[in-house]
Amino acid sequence: MTVELISVGTELLLGNIINTNANYLSVECAKLGLSMYHQVTVGDNEARLCEAIKTALERSDIVILTGGLGPTSDDITKEAVARVIGRRLVMDEHSRERILDYMNRIMVQNRTVPKELAKITENNWKQVLKVEGSIVIDNENGSAPGYIIEDNNKIIFLLPGPPVEMIPMFEGGMLPYLKKLQDKVFISRMVKICGIGESTAETMILDLIEKQGNPTIAPYAKGGEVHFRITASADNEDDALKLINPILDEMYSRFGINIYSVDEKETLEEAVVKLLKKHNLTIVTAESCTGGLLAGKIVNVPGASDVLKEGLITYTNEAKMKYLGVKPGTLDAYGAVSEQTAREMAEGALRQSGCDVSIAVTGVAGPGGGTPEKPVGLVYIACGISDKVFISERHFKGSREKVREYSVTAALDLIRRSIIDVYG
Ligand code: ATP
Ligand code: MG
Repeated sequence: MTVELISVGTELLLGNIINTNANYLSVECAKLGLSMYHQVTVGDNEARLCEAIKTALERSDIVILTGGLGPTSDDITKEAVARVIGRRLVMDEHSRERILDYMNRIMVQNRTVPKELAKITENNWKQVLKVEGSIVIDNENGSAPGYIIEDNNKIIFLLPGPPVEMIPMFEGGMLPYLKKLQDKVFISRMVKICGIGESTAETMILDLIEKQGNPTIAPYAKGGEVHFRITASADNEDDALKLINPILDEMYSRFGINIYSVDEKETLEEAVVKLLKKHNLTIVTAESCTGGLLAGKIVNVPGASDVLKEGLITYTNEAKMKYLGVKPGTLDAYGAVSEQTAREMAEGALRQSGCDVSIAVTGVAGPGGGTPEKPVGLVYIACGISDKVFISERHFKGSREKVREYSVTAALDLIRRSIIDVYG
């Protein structure tokens, strides 16, 4: 089945907001095995919106619209759909009760407005109107309901614009509906790789990519990582997994330790925290150019306090000497951005903290400060575990922000590899 997405909102056309809804819905539809051939963005203009809906209904089986369901006069999505398919807007009693209850809760109980002003405005009543014959999807996080409309063998979804409202409604209301439409199940696994570039990774499985059918293999590059989504369709989950597993095994045999997870939701930092926990290890960070970004990433993982004991930002040479015991002679002879300094930072962090693992990062984030010998993007990362120090020298390209982001990814990856090297 084909699906088309219409994002409604002048703000989107002006570039005032980023179309994250399109991003989210494209991923979800791909996971369901729906083919999305068109995406359209249209402003809050009824004639152009009607045109877009008409075109979409001619060429696609499912049309998803987001935005423009709110109470104000520029919110016209529902009206436009009703006009195109020639149906009336009728009062929905269920929505009326919900909106009264919602107003009461939001306005009075949360005291966002004084009680005497907590009245339903004229335009809120717009939200109790539904396209005749549509299925109403409740909005637990806002006032505008969503709708599913079946018309002429086509299906139209209407979802509100704010992602905090749209996503739960898609998951709770639309997803089960879409799954029921499919006679096949679509199951996917995400092979997450770190430490190999995108083109190298693709080359390593080019034969698999070229002869793909069911399952499909789709690559994505993301912040210093490469992901491959393997998706299989079958009559049931077991059969789909039987198709996926041989490909997964083949990927493991080719990429080995470079794969850190095959779980869609698991991030690199989560995989690292899990590995530290598995071996009962504590960690200390010593950061120069990443300035706390690495510790911050680790702290993002719930339960990080079981493993992360300390995080030091040693930005200047003085701080590196004072807190980590880096030798002045080392800094003089090799400079702050050097393998030797990274090594002493990692050793010092281990010594001072008593942790089992240390990770140190020092580099030239740019845009200034680069020299021919030490260009912008040169980063040394050192991971200390008992009496061993693992070093990684990296050459990143891009802005200061990118160099810092890639450094964090590379540091997390080095922690992972070093632990596997020592503890298996
Ligand atoms: P509301 O009841 O809040 O008016 P709505 O369904 O009418 O909801 P819009 O008025 O189109 O939606 O957009 C409201 C807000 O939702 C926007 O200001 C923006 O913050 C967010 N939003 C809308 N569309 C998108 C989108 N495609 N991607 C991300 N955010 C969006
Ligand atoms: Mg609106």
